[in-house]
Amino acid sequence: MKMKRITGDELEHLFERQLAEWPMVKNGFAALDSVKIKTVKVEDATFKVQFNPARIRSSAAKIDAASLKARRCFLCDENRPVEQQSLAWDDEYKVLVNPYPIFPKHFTVVCSRHTDQRIAGRMAHMMEMAEAFGDYEIFYNGPHCGASAPDHMHFQAGNKGFMPWLSDLSRVGEDILLRKGDAVMGVANIARAAVVIRAMSIESGAEMFHRLMEMLPVPAGDSEPMVNVLCSKSCREWTISVFPRKRHRPSCYDAEGDDNILISPASVDMGGVLAIPLEKDFYKIGVREIEQIFGEVCYSYDEIADIIENENKS
Ligand SMILES: [Zn+2]
Repeated sequence: MKMKRITGDELEHLFERQLAEWPMVKNGFAALDSVKIKTVKVEDATFKVQFNPARIRSSAAKIDAASLKARRCFLCDENRPVEQQSLAWDDEYKVLVNPYPIFPKHFTVVCSRHTDQRIAGRMAHMMEMAEAFGDYEIFYNGPHCGASAPDHMHFQAGNKGFMPWLSDLSRVGEDILLRKGDAVMGVANIARAAVVIRAMSIESGAEMFHRLMEMLPVPAGDSEPMVNVLCSKSCREWTISVFPRKRHRPSCYDAEGDDNILISPASVDMGGVLAIPLEKDFYKIGVREIEQIFGEVCYSYDEIADIIENENKS
């Protein structure tokens, strides 16, 4: 059976079509042009802070079991807006334009079936998409660290280079801890710690990723370690950045008064773009706030390096 893949050109056409035919998309992307942005440097890290009111639905999404049960799943075919068109990737996924964008071009890749958000067995798909889509990074939010539909499997795709993470990483680099075949695994510490996997083939990259997922702790009641994942391909090499997470939301999310900041960090935040839905928070957020937020929700460099080194001693 021939596999149905999607090229960057096909994505471009879908985007243009939806922009022309669906006012919500037209307005959503037009709003990005006038959005307020500021840059905050935290040591070697660059953070672009974006005041983006439309993201309130994601930042404040209720994802407890009762709330999920009470709502219609907005990623299922029958509940999506009639204007929303899709492109098929095999029988497994459909690609949609994200009507609540952060990126100049922003897509959601949804599973064709209503099935839980889980990365197990799907890294190869992410890597294939990173290759086929071309100018996009593919990202994944674990069910308890940023996904606003933890009950329906989905990735997202956004313009390559929009998130500052990879360019910061290319200057600072990572410490290599493991090698297998054409893949290497290292840990980087650039205002937040990440495991960086580089691979020349899908097989070795996906194998290294799933090996990492077996090393990381799984919180009680969860089915996988808490992670945000970015995946892209340039030249012949894939780069998979995995941000292991300790916590879904930082303490400022529930804080009263002046300490309150409505931010629910996900892959895009890990990538260095903070989409802030409330204007008061846009002005408030600076070096100290960013350090505190990432310090609370991410594992430290030492914690991650210890996990990987201990798992590989035996
Ligand atoms: Zn669904």
